[in-house]
Amino acid sequence: MSKKERVHKKVLALIAHDGKKADMVGYAIAHKETLKAYDLIGTGTTSRLVEEKAGLEMEGLLSGPMGGDAQIAARVADGRCDAVIFLRDPLDKHPHDPDINMLMRVCDVHNVPLATNLATADLVTNGMVLPRNNTE
Ligand code: PGA
Repeated sequence: MSKKERVHKKVLALIAHDGKKADMVGYAIAHKETLKAYDLIGTGTTSRLVEEKAGLEMEGLLSGPMGGDAQIAARVADGRCDAVIFLRDPLDKHPHDPDINMLMRVCDVHNVPLATNLATADLVTNGMVLPRNNTE
């Protein structure tokens, strides 16, 4: 490995709508050991809950309705987020629907894995854990 080459943990974003927060906590507890291998970021309330209930360190951004989804979309677009676990509540309305759609669109534009339900979240979490080699 050259001097300028460094191994970084992959960055995983966690977001859960209110109706899915219990599922997100269960997911974080179930995958706790695997999730330690990632740098975790997330929207405000989701991050706080995952820290409190699962004991994982998170970088908390703004709450979703205040722009947190948009912040995560920006990181995806910048190449600073490797995968997104976004437990959406399909049975509820959300004032920040434009931001939600934008985040999903940006993931598709940049071919970044996006899991919107627990079954896919399990696959993404276990499948992407290896660190990446970044050349600076
Ligand atoms: P929250 O945001 O984690 O701050 O609740 C999630 C969302 O509603 O998008």
